[in-house]
Amino acid sequence: MKVIVLPGEMAAASREIRSQSRTIAFVPTMGALHEGHLSLFREARRHGDVVAVSIFVNPTQFNDKADFEKYPKTLERDLKACGAENIAIVFTPTVEGIYPAGEENKPVSLPEVASRLEGASRPGHFEGVVDVVSRLFRIVQPHVAVFGLKDYQQYRVIQEMTRSGGYDVEIIGHPIVRTPEGLAMSSRNERLSVEGRTKALMLSKALKAAQYLFDRGERSAKIIVNKIAAPLKKDFHVDYVEIVDAESLESVDVITRPALLAMAVFVEDVRLIDNCVLAPNTVENSPT
Ligand code: AMP
Repeated sequence: MKVIVLPGEMAAASREIRSQSRTIAFVPTMGALHEGHLSLFREARRHGDVVAVSIFVNPTQFNDKADFEKYPKTLERDLKACGAENIAIVFTPTVEGIYPAGEENKPVSLPEVASRLEGASRPGHFEGVVDVVSRLFRIVQPHVAVFGLKDYQQYRVIQEMTRSGGYDVEIIGHPIVRTPEGLAMSSRNERLSVEGRTKALMLSKALKAAQYLFDRGERSAKIIVNKIAAPLKKDFHVDYVEIVDAESLESVDVITRPALLAMAVFVEDVRLIDNCVLAPNTVENSPT
């Protein structure tokens, strides 16, 4: 396993792989790796000859400085996990490497799908995501990149960014990985107490309740949202619970096409997100 810090070295390694007509499947992460990330690595292996993983806690996508500072940083453990997964290249750049000093500050334009949900709640977040992922794409030059549907909106934003930016990268979405109890895996779960983790199961239970209503024929977004948000609001500070079109991410009244049910909820001051797609006969990304 090669661990590369310098962007120039990473780009050279990619050029070398490409010159041998081998393909690169890329998984960008912020480290504190868990089973969700490892599942993305395995998906990447199915799509490319060489798997490259980046570990970079990107400061520009944190709209809350304290959240950035509290973000778990576990590089040594992460490198071991990558080694155990036979990852060929781990790219661990520094902030200065990704954002060279003295560089001209170019404004980032966002696709329409970035405007609601996380985009509305976390001003500047998707600007940071689009900026860092486009920088990583230019350095790593992947053929394929894998993103988790845990961050469904991010996946849609990256798809649109890839198209509009003219990047020749295939974007793969990978279903949410959960604990056996149903909690969506997240690096942020490390900040929850044992009790908090149990409480956080309310999120996936709410998704299941919504899926149940939907399967029984309920198609009113408002009715589903109200029913599942009420118990959450009793126990937690709920940032949002929304149903939007799964493609455009625009608000939906009556569900006639696949719709995304997305939520952001604070449990013990930790902001957790979860989602599922409500669509007839959907198995993928279901909250089970
Ligand atoms: P992060 O390190 O949180 O930036 O996540 C890196 C990638 O892993 C993103 O594409 C996430 O959507 C994905 N990811 C994180 N948690 C999960 C999960 N529980 N299931 C599937 N993908 C995940």
